[in-house]
Amino acid sequence: MRITAAVLETAGGPFALRDVDLGEPRPDEVLVRLGGTGICGTDLEFATFFPTPAVLGHEGAGVVERVGAQVTSVAPGDRVAMSFTSCGRCPTCRTGSPAYCHAFDAVNFSGRRPDGSSALSLDGAEINGHFLGQSSFATHAVVPERAVVPVGDAVDLTVAGPFGCGFQTGAGGVFNVLRPEAGSSIAVFGAGAVGVAAIIAAAVSGCGVVAAVDVNAAKLEAARSYGATHVVNSAATGAAAALREIAPHGFDHVIDTTGRQDVLRTAVEALGPLGRCGVIGVGPSPEMSFDWRSVLNGRTITGIIAGSSVPQVFLPKLLDLHAAGRFPVDRMMTAFPFEKINEAVAAVRAGEVAKAVLTF
Ligand SMILES: [Zn+2]
Ligand SMILES: [Zn+2]
Repeated sequence: MRITAAVLETAGGPFALRDVDLGEPRPDEVLVRLGGTGICGTDLEFATFFPTPAVLGHEGAGVVERVGAQVTSVAPGDRVAMSFTSCGRCPTCRTGSPAYCHAFDAVNFSGRRPDGSSALSLDGAEINGHFLGQSSFATHAVVPERAVVPVGDAVDLTVAGPFGCGFQTGAGGVFNVLRPEAGSSIAVFGAGAVGVAAIIAAAVSGCGVVAAVDVNAAKLEAARSYGATHVVNSAATGAAAALREIAPHGFDHVIDTTGRQDVLRTAVEALGPLGRCGVIGVGPSPEMSFDWRSVLNGRTITGIIAGSSVPQVFLPKLLDLHAAGRFPVDRMMTAFPFEKINEAVAAVRAGEVAKAVLTF
């Protein structure tokens, strides 16, 4: 079928709305008509080097239009959010940790299905897609059944998409991995969309101290409204000293959403003995370094992908919290019509919007 997709024609370049051919769903795939899709930092990062032409986008939600013969979990007309995909056959998939699928990169970031094919063609030639299982910067997407999550009829499709990546990543790092005790302390580094999701999850978990660290005063002010009990503007003050004042014995938990070496070091050193650092951000630094003695006292540093979640289990829980008003992430969303994708990307890059969502 003929669809409209935002095609990245050259790495780093703008997106161009093009007529693209989308193949039929295979037996284990689902055709989804998009209702909304978030724009995530990962899209912008990959847009700088991904082999082109390509269709990116991976925070989509929509309505199922057709399903392959083997699909049993959704039917045409069902509303779904989409998330990452996984192979389903490797040891970590088999033991319930698809976020750590042995084939994660191959099935999510190769631009192709595992057999090398693509559902997307431009001017008669296959192009890269299947980005994080989705390629949701398009009116329609062909998605593996493993990447779709039924969300029910009450869920707003313009809001649901980012639950499949950014919000799941931030909230899952807290709910699924760190699991802070009520009354414990946590510091969240980076108060963007992912950090805010972690802050809300920490507040919902009953953390006594929820410190938000960022260089952007407006984001920190917003973080307070989402449940941060303390904010540290690391552009204005030494973060390490400020954090020591907030938690003199060190934090029980910290989360880094920035992927920056200097921030990670500050985060690890802000921990108390036996404290745990969740590393969930993909950022500019290829390495992290710290004084090895700083981890001798029982501190743990753990990498976390996609909130360590099983999307079909975790997303409905998050969406229920949202429906109850306890995970109010829609407050940080700014909607743009799909056709304005380049304006939306510019607004994200300029830090003007916390979470851009494209509507169809
Ligand atoms: Zn797997
Ligand atoms: Zn993402």
